[in-house]
Amino acid sequence: MSEDCIFCKIIRGDFGTEFVYETDNTVVFNDINPKAPVHMLVCPKKHYPSLNEVDNKDLLGELLQTVREVTKKIGLKSYRTQINTGREAGQEVFHLHIHILGNK
Ligand code: AMP
Ligand code: ZN
Repeated sequence: MSEDCIFCKIIRGDFGTEFVYETDNTVVFNDINPKAPVHMLVCPKKHYPSLNEVDNKDLLGELLQTVREVTKKIGLKSYRTQINTGREAGQEVFHLHIHILGNK
C-alpha cells in the first residue's frame, strides 16, 4: 500500500469501485477514461510502481492469467493488452497495470 497511490486506494475500497474480476493477488476494474468500448485495468493488489520493480514470476503469471480469465468471463475473444512502463512511455499512474482494450 502506498498512501498517495490512487490505485492502492481503489484496491482498498476507498471509492467503492466495482471490480470486474478478482483473484488472490490481482484485481480488474474499468478505466475511468475508456479509450475503447471495453477498457479494463488489471493490477496486482500489492503496490509496485511499474513492471521494472516486479521480480516475482508467480505474480507476473497470475497477472496474465487474470487477463485470460476476465476476458473469458465477459466473452471478449479479441483484445489488445498494453503495459506502459516509465513516464516517457506514457505511464501516468505508478502502480503496475495491464490495459485490456477491446471493441466488443
Ligand atoms: P497509464 O498511462 O498506463 O499509467 O494509464 C493510467 C490509466 O489509468 C489511464 O487510462 C487512466 O484513464 C486510468 N485511471 C486514472 N485514474 C483512474 C481511476 N480513478 N479509476 C480508473 N482508472 C483510472
Ligand atoms: Zn499503488
